[in-house]
Amino acid sequence: MSDSPPSNDFIREIIAGDLASGKHATTITRFPPEPNGYLHIGHAKAICLSFGIARENAATGARCHLRFDDTNPEKEETEYVESIKEDVKWLGFNWGGHLYFASDYFQFFYDCAVHLIKQGLAYVDDDGVEEMRAKRGNVNTPGTRSEFAGRPVEENLDLFARMKAGEFRDGARVLRARIDMASPNMNLRDPVLYRIMHAHHHNTGDAWCIYPMYDFAHPLEDALEHITHSLCTLEFENHRPLYDWFIDHCPVPSKPRQIEFARLNLTYTVMSKRKLLQLVQEGKVSGWDDPRLPTISGMRRRGYPAAAIREFCKRIGITKFSGTTDVALLEYEVRDFLNRGAPRRMAVLDPVRVVLENWSAEPLPHAVVSNHPQNPDMGEREVPMGGVVFIEREDFMEDPPKKFFRLGPDRCVRLRGGHIIRCSGYDKDADGNVSLIRAEILPGTVGMDAPEGVACKAAIHWVDAATAVDAEVRLYDRLFTVEDPDAAEGGFVSVLNPDSLKTVTAKVEPSLADAAPGFCCQFERVGYFVADSKDHRPGEKPVFNRTVALKDSWAKKSG
Ligand code: ATP
Ligand code: MG
Repeated sequence: MSDSPPSNDFIREIIAGDLASGKHATTITRFPPEPNGYLHIGHAKAICLSFGIARENAATGARCHLRFDDTNPEKEETEYVESIKEDVKWLGFNWGGHLYFASDYFQFFYDCAVHLIKQGLAYVDDDGVEEMRAKRGNVNTPGTRSEFAGRPVEENLDLFARMKAGEFRDGARVLRARIDMASPNMNLRDPVLYRIMHAHHHNTGDAWCIYPMYDFAHPLEDALEHITHSLCTLEFENHRPLYDWFIDHCPVPSKPRQIEFARLNLTYTVMSKRKLLQLVQEGKVSGWDDPRLPTISGMRRRGYPAAAIREFCKRIGITKFSGTTDVALLEYEVRDFLNRGAPRRMAVLDPVRVVLENWSAEPLPHAVVSNHPQNPDMGEREVPMGGVVFIEREDFMEDPPKKFFRLGPDRCVRLRGGHIIRCSGYDKDADGNVSLIRAEILPGTVGMDAPEGVACKAAIHWVDAATAVDAEVRLYDRLFTVEDPDAAEGGFVSVLNPDSLKTVTAKVEPSLADAAPGFCCQFERVGYFVADSKDHRPGEKPVFNRTVALKDSWAKKSG
């Protein structure tokens, strides 16, 4: 299924303008994740934007780099690098050979810092964290410059070299830019460029014990890669003057432009990697790819089509206004894609047995059921049929109201693709639950209208008892019970939904047992399901995840 045409937004307009005016011959964007967690749906928005723009401008030679922002040695792991690559690819994008690691530029950052020192624009400060904070001032009070700012260039060069050589302990000194201690923009009050950290780095090992700050490194990375448009989220808006200052004062080969857009927030979701990591580490979920998490890998395992995620990102658009998007919109897109493309199958989640008492009178080895009611191209399949079938417990009522068009004493209903049946009686167990339903088939009603005098308005799903397979079905629901878990008084963990996962043993048609992991379908009248990519073993142990229910039940529940 191909994507709908790209929508326009202020960033695409700026880029189109730069191409039209000849300011740039092409556009080069980048997606710069820090490899300290798995990607989430918020990242998908940034990916669809930067990789999408590159694709739309491919005719001019546009491209989008995947750059791991791995300048912080402490939190990064190669597991994250691999998962991020996989997620970007799965979303349908590629970096075409432009895969970079910020840590490969450590020498360049260092050279830029030395350049700033030589220009008198950076100095080594011995003030500790507390003193630096005290002298920084606040929005109303200008800061005061450290007494160490007066060091001559030679002394700064010497101290910085010795910082690099490992002569000092962590936190003993920092390198700062000399900008403006009175600036109303706090980011410009002599920001720290380098700190001492005797830490092992996944890429550079123990080669470095000083590490650059994000604000310093990021513009240099962009410039080094000749990024034309560096797209990031709004929280970096008041870092832009600093971004531009570094570009203006360092010996960089190009002049990238930073443009900010609103980040994605979703209801009933937490998105910060730190919080997702906490849920994983505390075992609140089964891992980063738990189908309840807003991670790309969780959504993939949940059965969300990549195209639906792309369409969702397009629909929410790119603006400067931050807000929170209703997660129901994402679920709507998923449902919309699956409704069009997912084949239909039959599975009974809460089975009760129906004995067709006159079965032998008209044997029918199988029913022929359409694979998609609106799409005849998807064909039909044979579903085994016998004298005992399972139907959904809720499709039978002992004392149904008039408007209940399913099964009840003396009532008729059609078994999808098969006969109309009439209920002739039922048994109950010791607990008072219906344990068995007796019914007769109305001969000659397969594919036919109900005969004169027979009221039959509905068809229900069913499975033949003799050939049905037991499947583990995981009914996933929202992970949190409130719209804004971050605002919960007791913290987001206090509002976890205790019913976010219910597991049932369903009776499913035999073909489902052989489905390949990742196979998506609609369980007719129930919802969309996917064969779990990790635990489902074809022919041995079928495991299905509920991707999304047929209808949004939360709209009612919470309304
Ligand atoms: P988090 O805040 O979830 O921990 P992050 O911003 O620290 O995420 P990065 O790895 O630094 O994660 O993000 C890589 C890119 O993805 C950045 O350019 C960032 O702006 C963008 N991004 C992160 N979260 C969102 C979001 N919710 N919506 C849109 N873009 C996002
Ligand atoms: Mg970040």
